[in-house]
Amino acid sequence: MARRETSVAGPGSRALVVDVVRSAVSISRVELAERTGLTQPSISNIVRDLIADGVIHETGSADSIRGKPRKLLAITAANRFGIGFQLGPETVTCVAIDLTGGVVGREVVPFDGGDLADRLAERFDDFIADLDLPRDRIEGLAVVAPTARPGDEDTGPAWAAVRAALTERLGVPVLVENDAAAAALGEFWSRRVSREQAFGSVYLSSGIGAGLVFGGALHRGASFDAGELGHVSIAYDGLPCPCGNRGCVERYASMAATVDAARAAGLPVEQKTVFSAYDAIAHAAVSGDPDAFAVIDRAAGYLSVAVTSMVNLLDLGRVVLTGPGMAVAGSIYARRLRAALAAGAHARHRHEIVVELSAQPRDAAGIGAAALVVQASIAPGHTAADVL
Ligand SMILES: [Zn+2]
Repeated sequence: MARRETSVAGPGSRALVVDVVRSAVSISRVELAERTGLTQPSISNIVRDLIADGVIHETGSADSIRGKPRKLLAITAANRFGIGFQLGPETVTCVAIDLTGGVVGREVVPFDGGDLADRLAERFDDFIADLDLPRDRIEGLAVVAPTARPGDEDTGPAWAAVRAALTERLGVPVLVENDAAAAALGEFWSRRVSREQAFGSVYLSSGIGAGLVFGGALHRGASFDAGELGHVSIAYDGLPCPCGNRGCVERYASMAATVDAARAAGLPVEQKTVFSAYDAIAHAAVSGDPDAFAVIDRAAGYLSVAVTSMVNLLDLGRVVLTGPGMAVAGSIYARRLRAALAAGAHARHRHEIVVELSAQPRDAAGIGAAALVVQASIAPGHTAADVL
């Protein structure tokens, strides 16, 4: 694909170079110029700045056809860290990653009551002390929750106020993000997905969300509401949804809907939280209980209808299934989705549509939160507007 070369290397060019080095693992300056479409002088300037900033380093050499060995460039992993907090109903999952997306620390602790900003600030101090991470190497904190969105002033906890209070108290940049969107960026970053790939993730938790990464940047939509996969309707005259639509896939395939379906099918369902009741059904399904399998498989079938529409609408090349709901029975969902895409993905004859399971589905949003911090730090200007 031909790219337009800009005469001045802006933040978008720096983000582009970081992203190509990250996904390539190691790469020469010549290859970088070929892959990015930037001129050799631009590449030289950007690489010099990135080495000076400690973001990338030279590592070994590759043989050149014309004799002179070419130095290879790679991301400097252990230099700096991003911290992500994933808020659950009763716990907070705390994750630290290095610049390559590798997890260097993880803790899950009970979390309830009190002033949210105070509690998060204390947790931050304890977490980096537990890991013995030097504070001056921390690039920031991102907090993710189902209700959180960047710029949200008036829903759920007042996220803008929480963010402002944390920024002042901690002295590092603080971001707030929706859990499904963060999980998508985390999967994109840690899997070293190339920015040329149209990438999506499906996040099954209390609701159903999706995250979309185009050109290496999260796609957010006009009001940070992109990715509401749960409210894609799969039936014109289906079940009414609190959102106002009918037939939303969340009414058929959310964890709560699956627990209800299991109960209706006569399966023993304990009256605990939706999460624990769902996990018990998922465990039974993968352990050979045919009734439990049928319930999960049906939910997977409903979800696959909505995800196939998403793939067709956006011409995605890769989809990752993630979130707590995929932790136990993800293989059942993946099998259903692969079958649905093999039969109904419009672009299936033109390119492969890869379906993968997250390696860490329960922690994906926390890892993604930390990846948001890393991306904002080493590749600033990495917004859709800069890239496209
Ligand atoms: Zn709905």
